[in-house]
Amino acid sequence: MNVITLLVELQNMDMRSDENAAARARAEKSLADAAELDAARAARAQSDTNISALQAQLRSLELEAQGLTEKIKEVNERLYSGRITNAKELAGLNQDEKMLERRKSELEDRELALMEQIEAEDHHAAERRATFEKISGQTTWRHDHDRATLNQLDASDAELARKRDALRAQLDANTLRVYDHLRATKKGRAVALLKNTSCSACGYAVPSGLVSRVKVGSELVFCTNCERILTP
Ligand SMILES: [Zn+2]
Repeated sequence: MNVITLLVELQNMDMRSDENAAARARAEKSLADAAELDAARAARAQSDTNISALQAQLRSLELEAQGLTEKIKEVNERLYSGRITNAKELAGLNQDEKMLERRKSELEDRELALMEQIEAEDHHAAERRATFEKISGQTTWRHDHDRATLNQLDASDAELARKRDALRAQLDANTLRVYDHLRATKKGRAVALLKNTSCSACGYAVPSGLVSRVKVGSELVFCTNCERILTP
């Protein structure tokens, strides 16, 4: 292979390496990203917390109702024991009983409302659990895909490095210096194809004297406009 063919091959390898680096960055970013899953997990945990809080409220109401039931029983026992004969005391106990029954009835209304709230929250929690499972599956699939991509890129990069080293070994130090400098300063493209008589990178019409030297292909000829190495 002559020097120009070697440089074109080298540039192909280097550009494929650049593409691999971009693909690697995308895969690594995707692999590190679990934001959607974290949000779904947090939502699921929030539902569980809500339900626990409502259930605790319900238990406390139930205990309060139980206490009232016992008090009502006590009052009733005293009322109908026959031991109390004082009319005023009896009237007082009657009033106590009515008040206790009213409070118990209020508590029962609150319990019912709370049970409805728990049912709604249970429904909400089931939806959130389903959403979490779905996103979890999608994230696992995506991350597996990312890891497979990274493995493929490892293999591809190793092969490119081998080929690139073999090509560079056939080029002299000065040519490599020129090539590397142009790669670094010309957006990764050191070599440009001569298309008819124009530079394909910048479109500049190359003088005919240079065109014939490019066609011989035995030396480095540079575009007089963008300074890239021209290839026939
Ligand atoms: Zn040019």
